[in-house]
Amino acid sequence: MNAPTSQAVLAPTVKLLIGGKFVESKTTQWRDVVNPATQEVLARVPFATPEEIDAAVASAQEAFKTWKKTAIGARARIFLKYQQLIRENMAELAAILTAEQGKTLPDAEGDVFRGLEVVEHAASIGNLQLGELANNVAGGVDTYTLLQPLGVCAGITPFNFPAMIPLWMFPMAIATGNTFVLKPSEQDPMVTMRLVELALEAGIPPGVLNVIHGGEAAVNAICDHKDIKAISFVGSTKVGTHVYNRASLNGKRVQCMMGAKNHAIVLPDANKEQTLNALAGAAFGAAGQRCMALSVVVLVGEAQKWIPELVEKAKTLKVSAGTEKGTDVGPVVSCAAKDRVQGLIERGIADGATLELDGRNPNVPGYEKGNFVGPTVFSGVKPGMAIYDQEIFGPVLCLSAAADIDEAIEFINSNPNGNGTAIFTQSGAAARKFQEEIDVGQVGINVPIPVPVPLFSFSGSRASKLGDLGPYGKQVVLFYTQTKTVTARWFDDSTISHGVNTTISLK
Ligand code: NAD
Repeated sequence: MNAPTSQAVLAPTVKLLIGGKFVESKTTQWRDVVNPATQEVLARVPFATPEEIDAAVASAQEAFKTWKKTAIGARARIFLKYQQLIRENMAELAAILTAEQGKTLPDAEGDVFRGLEVVEHAASIGNLQLGELANNVAGGVDTYTLLQPLGVCAGITPFNFPAMIPLWMFPMAIATGNTFVLKPSEQDPMVTMRLVELALEAGIPPGVLNVIHGGEAAVNAICDHKDIKAISFVGSTKVGTHVYNRASLNGKRVQCMMGAKNHAIVLPDANKEQTLNALAGAAFGAAGQRCMALSVVVLVGEAQKWIPELVEKAKTLKVSAGTEKGTDVGPVVSCAAKDRVQGLIERGIADGATLELDGRNPNVPGYEKGNFVGPTVFSGVKPGMAIYDQEIFGPVLCLSAAADIDEAIEFINSNPNGNGTAIFTQSGAAARKFQEEIDVGQVGINVPIPVPVPLFSFSGSRASKLGDLGPYGKQVVLFYTQTKTVTARWFDDSTISHGVNTTISLK
């Protein structure tokens, strides 16, 4: 929590959503939501009290009694309407997002759009939630499955995708018949709240979706609440591991999508211009604050000679506020984030990496107070250096070298993270070897940020993920439902009785 400023006293408050009503928190603990390009205080967000958190869960618990029985078509139609409302309000949503998070307006639209795709998917829940049936598993006996909702589910989201990630969570949970308590990031909750307003406008009934705000205490309350059945978390590895352990010990179903260190391999046969453009976009876009950002590039053989051209590309990117036309790299989310990223750049120099491009303290006319860090490139980066071992979450690209593809694959597989990876090559054989041997959950072939569309599931692996099932796609239907298997026999008057059967077999 930060100390309230004089601006903050005038700023609007972010509301809680409990039982279908947007309500003012009674808490005494508030935090400012700050525009990272200007330091303007946009709003104040409350840290909900334990009573408010209990009230949100109770309202979801009560709503579940009727929502779970709501016809599948009625549920689907709400999401049809919802996707339309999101499209109609896209420009407003992107503007709110840019103001509080910093990313450029086109990228903010992309953030909303990737969430909108999940909403569209939720609208086809009728097909997704079908069970299975096997006819005549024994004489006159059929077995079939029901995918039944769990009850109250909860979502805890990070700051970097304040539209997309809440939309990964509550639409699919609610479409499958659950009710939901969402805890958005306290750093940028405003676009999430606008999306929640639109969800109610689309027809989500009172109590089915609830929102509380806060930080560590609210998250712990969610992990411990006896009436919450499942938790979807997205955020850093440290917090995600804590949430997974705490909520699992309390018997909850948990999925945690966490931190990353995403590597790309560049082979010398790759299309040079396309590859360099892709690397610069994926390393520095969204100021490097994407869990799927490319933060390490392993240059193989002759591709190591491309460093000067890659640095030239990075120099062409415009650093400014996300609202300014032509901006490529906006501010990082907070002053603390800027200090951390710049501190890691200093560590990189001290650890012996070669600073090819220094983006510290760039000159950004008109936005002198903004949290800007320009594109930064290090070469000669090795494990054991802080810039390699830690997730920087800023516009800093680390370059390493390998003699051949085998060495490059081994290098990546030795890193504990498994969120995303990519290879750049014109060779089908090399690409196929990479997809077979790389131990990372999401693989791009000449695609730098391979985030699957919702027909599939987000499938980060190893240290980037805890829990078996992904946050959208088919897997999330299993996450938000309990499979019940029914084995049924119906007698009619002509059925011949076989007498008492004391064995386990079905006759
Ligand atoms: P964060 O872990 O600081 O915050 C995530 C959520 O946890 C927030 O809602 C926050 O309020 C809460 N939280 C923060 N500290 C807590 C604590 N001590 N105890 C309990 N709860 C706490 O993450 P962030 O900085 O908001 O987001 C960036 C991180 O998220 C990066 O590590 C990034 O890689 C990761 N991320 C991962 C994915 C993915 O799909 N794997 C997607 C987006 C972001």
